[in-house]
Amino acid sequence: MMAESEAPKRYWIWTVGCQMNKVDSDRVADTMQARGYLPAQREEDADIVILNSCAVRESAERRVSGKLGNLVALKQEKPQLVLGLTGCSVSPDFEATRKRFRGADLYFQPTRIDQFLEQLDVIWPAPADEGVMACWEEQPAATEDKGPIAYVPISNGCDKFCTYCIVPYRRGRETSRPMLDIVDECGNLVKRGAREITLLGQRVNAYGKDFKDGTDLADLLRLVNDIPGLERLRFLTSYPKDMSDKLIASFAELDKVCEHLHLPVQSGNDAVLQRMRRGYTRDDYLRLVERIRAVAPDIVLSTDIIVGFCGETEEEFQETLSLVEEVRFTTVYSAAYSVRSGTLASRWEDDVPPDVKKDRLRRLGEVQERISLQQHQALRGSRVEILVESTESERHDTPQWQGRTRQNRRVFLPRGDESLLGQVVPVRIEKVSPWAMQGVLVA
Ligand code: SF4
Repeated sequence: MMAESEAPKRYWIWTVGCQMNKVDSDRVADTMQARGYLPAQREEDADIVILNSCAVRESAERRVSGKLGNLVALKQEKPQLVLGLTGCSVSPDFEATRKRFRGADLYFQPTRIDQFLEQLDVIWPAPADEGVMACWEEQPAATEDKGPIAYVPISNGCDKFCTYCIVPYRRGRETSRPMLDIVDECGNLVKRGAREITLLGQRVNAYGKDFKDGTDLADLLRLVNDIPGLERLRFLTSYPKDMSDKLIASFAELDKVCEHLHLPVQSGNDAVLQRMRRGYTRDDYLRLVERIRAVAPDIVLSTDIIVGFCGETEEEFQETLSLVEEVRFTTVYSAAYSVRSGTLASRWEDDVPPDVKKDRLRRLGEVQERISLQQHQALRGSRVEILVESTESERHDTPQWQGRTRQNRRVFLPRGDESLLGQVVPVRIEKVSPWAMQGVLVA
């Protein structure tokens, strides 16, 4: 128990993986701080270390195992150290998780902070009058400034079972958070300084299907769009088959919904898409892009692509290249296929050699770089509006602000007046590369 006279315990959270994991780590940190724990300055000073894991790729899970192994060794010297494991590596079957990741003291699923608190209470019981929170939604709204960019998970899990993907096995069935809880949370974030909110879910545009009352993401966007003080609204990640006309109309009807959509295609070839069990064809995807652009002509699209999936031939891969040329995405997040045990595809031969996968990644990267550069070159000399979101100094000689346009294009500008942080400002684009643009503030 943390008695009143006892020094506060310190925590450290180590995170790998996607934006959802980063948000979950923030929530665990908020929960711990609400219970009197303090962040440690260094991992070595912590009383409790929590690993927030990613299972999407084998290499990420290897990193988690390696990190846990190091910490278990540290625990030999420091037996009072408490180790927690959360994230996608923790499946609902805790015993199986314990066998795969030995040595942690706490295992909890990322959406189940109550599991974490129950186990923590056994190790360090909370004072009886503390009013233990059952889950994150019940945390009191704090008033401190949390920065201009915020991410809010609205659903968890996935019901699609694409043949290469581990997410449905680890995160479980799709569940949506109650709409009013989300709107409340977004309102509180705006009070704390957020100007842009991204709603997150593994299949975010399936939001509300489990309510079975017709409520959907478009309804939620409409409510969040009405929050005074919010400037921009995004959602991530969308599954192509769930882009309804009602949702597409949000881009035209709701002023804060930004003109950017991340829409993973994974492959441009029908046979590969079928083996992946994506549920759409190349033509379905292209028709969808047409429908979206008809409603929102300024919209830009980014995507995910897997190269070298089981049995992918050179001709099949070339159809992916041609689709990229045809759609002209702003960004392609590409990865070479790697087997995830437990998925349907893990029963098939991973028969595209590593050097072929590497070569396909390189060729895809070259096509995309050319397209991104052409798009950015077309913007040179023009005026864009960016939301100033953070400082960036590592890659520049002089301190810079970093911001993004509504279309999610990254722009740097020389750092000046501190009051610009969180403001939407006009910028003239002067230099461009495939990945970002450099601008100056317009008076
Ligand atoms: S839709 Fe996305 S999260 Fe769901 S199974 Fe397919 S790839 Fe995985």
